[in-house]
Amino acid sequence: KGKAKKYSKAASKEIKHAAVLGAGIMGGGIAYQSAYKGVPVVMKDIRQEALDLGMKEAGKILSKAVQRGKADNAKMIKVLSSITPTLLDDALKGVDIVVEAVVENPNVKGKVLAQTEATVGDDAIIVSNTSTISIDALAKNLNDPSRFCGMHFFNPVHKMPLVEIIRGEKTSDETVAAVVAYALKLGKTPIVVNDCPGFLVNRVLFPYLAGFAGMLKEGVDFAAIDKVMEKQFGWPMGPAYLSDVVGIDTADHCTKVMAEGFPSRMPRDEDNAIAKLAAADRYGQKNGKGFYQYG
Ligand code: NAD
Repeated sequence: KGKAKKYSKAASKEIKHAAVLGAGIMGGGIAYQSAYKGVPVVMKDIRQEALDLGMKEAGKILSKAVQRGKADNAKMIKVLSSITPTLLDDALKGVDIVVEAVVENPNVKGKVLAQTEATVGDDAIIVSNTSTISIDALAKNLNDPSRFCGMHFFNPVHKMPLVEIIRGEKTSDETVAAVVAYALKLGKTPIVVNDCPGFLVNRVLFPYLAGFAGMLKEGVDFAAIDKVMEKQFGWPMGPAYLSDVVGIDTADHCTKVMAEGFPSRMPRDEDNAIAKLAAADRYGQKNGKGFYQYG
């Protein structure tokens, strides 16, 4: 927190107007959080259905807040009217920051980032919400990498306090300062980390999940491990349920990235439970079946 304060004092650019690329699970959540905290946001996708779903989800979160007495109808209208859903690139003109949250594919992200830089003003900041792709590799798609860094939110965005701000080799201090200040404005706790596979959280999380998968191979029941971690150890959820929430396919993709980054510490194991569930199209809560069965 001390460091966050130091950076935010140095902030040279206040974020007053944001844009989010991708209206999926993360983009929709980031757009909602920005609007809720008073920063109007353009939410851009290439599919109208995604935009409709993003707005619907924002409406659902707000309705729950109204039911709990945490917001009133006026706030609900204000928040929803501060999100501008669009299919048009031109809508990005004039924003202070663009948060890229499109699919986790380096080629798609590369094209989107280059196109974004060609559309926005020279001083606009561009960040990526990537979970696994190197920030320095993504920065190569930009003419001015000093205005670029990672801004990694966690799912669900409106509930999870942490945001990892990943500083690339060429990211400027001003960019880091402005992004830290924006994260604080969104009510989040930013931490500034260096670019490496897994950043900070996934470097801690994936060895834990590898330990969990190793115990399953020894014949321990996954539900029993969840029960111990939740009820006795006091974590909000155990590793099996967590993998279902994150998405088994996403978790499997992350294990591959971690294995490439740290081959001796986290070697790839095709025979582990997460890889096998992913191969059987059991993606967790998103398709109703993972470790557990849903719906
Ligand atoms: P998602 O599939 O729910 O949403 C991606 C959206 O991007 C889709 O609506 C798609 O139509 C849109 N899109 C694709 N190409 C586009 C383009 N050229 N321009 C604009 N929109 C485009 O994915 P998600 O889970 O929201 O993940 C998005 C990013 O966030 C990924 O980089 C992912 O690694 C990262 N992330 C995900 C999580 C998670 O738990 N799901 C957590 C942290 C970070």
